[in-house]
Amino acid sequence: MTAHLDIKSAQKFYKKYKAVDNVNLSIKKGEFVTILGPSGSGKTTLLKLIAGFEELNDGAIFLDGQDITKKKAYDRNIGMVFQNYALFPHMTVFDNIAYPLRLRNVMKANIKEHVIRALQTVRLEEFASRYPNQLSGGQQQRVALARAIVFNPPLLLLDEPLGALDKNLRHQMQYEIKHIQQSLGITTVNVTHDQEEALTMSDRICVMNKGRIEQIDTPERLYNFPKSKFVSAFIGEINLLQCELIHLEAGMAVVKLNDGQVAKVRVEQSDVAVQTAALIAIRPENIHVVRDGAVFTNMHELTVLEKTYVGESFRIEGTTKTRERLTIKLPYASSREIAVGDEIRIGWNAHEASLVPDEVTVQNDTADIRGAAKIS
Ligand code: ADP
Ligand code: MG
Repeated sequence: MTAHLDIKSAQKFYKKYKAVDNVNLSIKKGEFVTILGPSGSGKTTLLKLIAGFEELNDGAIFLDGQDITKKKAYDRNIGMVFQNYALFPHMTVFDNIAYPLRLRNVMKANIKEHVIRALQTVRLEEFASRYPNQLSGGQQQRVALARAIVFNPPLLLLDEPLGALDKNLRHQMQYEIKHIQQSLGITTVNVTHDQEEALTMSDRICVMNKGRIEQIDTPERLYNFPKSKFVSAFIGEINLLQCELIHLEAGMAVVKLNDGQVAKVRVEQSDVAVQTAALIAIRPENIHVVRDGAVFTNMHELTVLEKTYVGESFRIEGTTKTRERLTIKLPYASSREIAVGDEIRIGWNAHEASLVPDEVTVQNDTADIRGAAKIS
């Protein structure tokens, strides 16, 4: 099956600055994909290229097998919701939602039916005759969503639509949008800088950094198998331990840590070359206290520097013999008696960590220097 939305080698420059740098992305019909990245990473630019509000300098975009690269925004027939609600303030909710239909010369008798259905979808049937300033922020975003889907677009683009809402409302709206998206089966590209939103809403997440895609994966895989230092640190909390890759054997990397100890880390496909520096990425919840003869693939001593109660667990900051800082999260019951100053034995398993290149930060406009030999 061909992809529903297919972006091929997309490039976008603003003068000499590469805002979108060789982006390749294929999205299946009905899929919910989130573009996640820090501010300035090119998310909005990528969305504008898909919508047709900006022109590509190079590359192509296909929708349903059709090349839309040169099509005007209007002819692409794509639904879009922005962060600032952008409703027409002088129009009622009904007229706001009817606007795209009138623009498309839909017959008057049909307009009402479509608008009512869209209002029902976003649960605002009672609000048709209100004006935008008589609605809450969440309601305004629901109207914006209704307006974006009322003409049955093949594709829905969302650019930080929940950014202006407070946290509780944002969570509720995330759930609602996801529910609406699934019931309509509409292919959706969502943009956010909020990793939690990306993890909870998406079928797949595409992490962007400096105009480039760092990784495209399911939320679970992205969290558990980050492929780069950037992805590991941008999503969730992570410990990064310096090491050197000694050799690879059957899905396992054998590495040497700073203290000379040899450790093992599972690898699927690695961008790290043998005998080069790398980082072991371990989530705080994947480091355990070694007790009662329990055995882990890798074990260390840790001096406890700080201990904080965080509700369901304790967060412990410590330092290894080679003065590397580690953060670990331990269940309340198993860590109650640990105190600041204690020396504890910790362990983690090879399959609970990943090996990522210790990359040098690259400037956006310099050549790709992450050219480590591919090994797999
Ligand atoms: P994001 O949405 O991830 O925050 P943008 O796509 O808006 O990022 O911007 C990516 C980069 O391109 C930023 O450095 C931004 O300053 C630059 N940029 C965006 N739009 C323009 C423009 N119209 N002219 C010049 N530079 C722009
Ligand atoms: Mg943006």
